[in-house]
Amino acid sequence: MAKTIVITGANRGIGLAMASIFSKRGDSVYAVCRQSSRELDALGVNVVSGVDVTDESGLAVMAQSLAEQTIDVLVCNAGILRDENLSNFNLATMRDQFEVNTLAPLRVVHALQAQLSAGSKVAMITSRMGSIEDNTSGGRFGYRMSKAALNIASVSLSHDLAEQEIAVGIYHPGYVQTDMVGGRGDISAAEAAGRIIGLVDELTLATSGQFRHSNGQRLPW
Ligand code: NDP
Repeated sequence: MAKTIVITGANRGIGLAMASIFSKRGDSVYAVCRQSSRELDALGVNVVSGVDVTDESGLAVMAQSLAEQTIDVLVCNAGILRDENLSNFNLATMRDQFEVNTLAPLRVVHALQAQLSAGSKVAMITSRMGSIEDNTSGGRFGYRMSKAALNIASVSLSHDLAEQEIAVGIYHPGYVQTDMVGGRGDISAAEAAGRIIGLVDELTLATSGQFRHSNGQRLPW
């Protein structure tokens, strides 16, 4: 049966690729973005534009556009990557990453709570760079901290939403060829998106709150 899917940051990169795959398999996709793109327009999905996920009025536009929907899968994908270290110490970019990567996904779930119900799934797109155990190269303060904080917030959500039978998946997409990494990366956005969708399909309350690589591997916190 066709499902209702909501994806943030759906105008490009991994979000766009997920919108494309869900749409091709017949699901009803709501692509949330600040501004649409030619590629997103070409998919013919429902575009919810004007939504900056860090902005209360944008979140209100999103909630209003989706007020009549019951969401089967909510993908919190929008994210930013900046670079700081001790010699390039930038509090502003660290704060920006907390706003977009940590607080915004929580705010999106909060804003759309009434549209989630038993059987709904939330997919948090995080990063292995938020893994404390996996941090062997240092730096990237803001990105690492913001994704580690997203991870623990997502585990809290998995507990908080379990009573309503809503499962939460926490996914590292892999090193993916998108604008975020200047087109470098090991896999295409389409491949990462396909893998994440496969994991979302398999997600249950029993596996809620797990941190996984898109290749299925459990990742250390
Ligand atoms: P892109 O830079 O290609 O896309 C980022 C998306 O996030 C864009 O749609 C962008 O919209 C949106 N976005 C950023 N800030 C905001 C905001 N304030 N409000 C609304 N939308 C916003 O990156 P990817 O597709 O690679 O990244 C998707 C997710 O995957 C991110 O969470 C990222 O951290 C994660 N990830 C990516 C990896 C990779 O190798 N690419 C590795 C690990 C994790 P706009 O066009 O308006 O800027």
